Amino acid sequence: MDRGPGDQVHAALFPRRRELVLEASLRRRPAELARIVTHEYFHLVWIRLGNPARRQWEAVLLGELAAGARGELGWSAEWRKGLITLADRTARSRRWRLYACESFCDTAAFLYAGIPEHEEFTLRPRFRFARQSWFRTLERHLGGVFRV
Ligand SMILES: [Zn+2]
Repeated sequence: MDRGPGDQVHAALFPRRRELVLEASLRRRPAELARIVTHEYFHLVWIRLGNPARRQWEAVLLGELAAGARGELGWSAEWRKGLITLADRTARSRRWRLYACESFCDTAAFLYAGIPEHEEFTLRPRFRFARQSWFRTLERHLGGVFRV
């Protein structure tokens, strides 16, 4: 789900019921629909991903932050990134873990929704490539299928 400052909510995911509710107006915006459905699908992937892979993803994000990376690949991750403190990173706080999850889902939407550009894709290319490389490794590890 993408509730955040200044954000419009277009979807609500209920993982336990395996139900995704989408705003009807998305029918008129197929590219945005694809991006949102992909993002929400990857929330289910994240749940099943397991802690080792989640920690590896967090290591990617920590490397970006250490390199001073700004921007994100979706507003859902971006506004959370703006709230992260050193203490959050160090303690792996709930705020940090939510950021990591949203960043994972926004990155997946960037990679798999088939939308080459979007105003919310603000992360610099070199960091996009690093994330893409990480996802390619995950794909190989999972046999090319993101099961949920
Ligand atoms: Zn989300």
